[in-house]
Amino acid sequence: TRRKMVVGNWKMHGLKADLPEIEAIAQAAAQKPMVDVALCVPATLIAPATGVAGTMPIGAEDVHAADKGAHTGCLSAQMVKEAGASLTIVGHSERRADQNETSHDAWAKAAAARAAGLNVILCVGETEAERDAGRAERVVQAQIEKSVPDAAAASWFTLAYEPRWAIGTGRTPKLEEIESMHAIARAKLSRMVGEEAAGIRILYGGSMTGANAASILAVDNVDGGLIGGASLTAEKFIPIIQAAA
Ligand code: 13P
Repeated sequence: TRRKMVVGNWKMHGLKADLPEIEAIAQAAAQKPMVDVALCVPATLIAPATGVAGTMPIGAEDVHAADKGAHTGCLSAQMVKEAGASLTIVGHSERRADQNETSHDAWAKAAAARAAGLNVILCVGETEAERDAGRAERVVQAQIEKSVPDAAAASWFTLAYEPRWAIGTGRTPKLEEIESMHAIARAKLSRMVGEEAAGIRILYGGSMTGANAASILAVDNVDGGLIGGASLTAEKFIPIIQAAA
């Protein structure tokens, strides 16, 4: 049985003034030891966040695929780890869209993160046009095929299904659509990594809130959530943690 995982993604939000929110989230997470709660924050906030997060893991939102080099403005997995991160997101759709990242990039980043000792949350998800064209399943399967490392194991690897059109829009797929895509993702994972796939957690992300978390988290093969907007304050995030418990 897979433990539920609830991860916040602060994206480009958060200054030191927001540390009390992180502290409050961590305190609430400590009350729910059956749920794995983590918070991914801007790199500038990783070190200060670990100072207030207690036992709650703090993560990065991205890493470079190389371990060092002439890559102005980029951060290696080892760098964010040294700052205090114990996990990282890779392949987020905003990076695919804003930085033209490919599934191959996400694959290389996942491998680099793993090599540095970070846990990995790898994001996949279709656009609205792809879903409207009936291609959502094929797109997500292809993303998984190209981006999940062969050695992916439940101990360090988590997949997140985040339909792009559900991110920050207040729109979510129907529960049947989530169930169907998560089943497809798990089947694809098992063709790639065999029995290990049964233990790999698959998170849902996209407009998850305290109001819809319980019903989404009850869907088969939904092992948790990756939450953007509703993770920015303790007031909004704690109900999602509670819904997972
Ligand atoms: P929202 O929860 O703001 O829709 O963002 C989801 C997301 O992209 C998490 O990575």
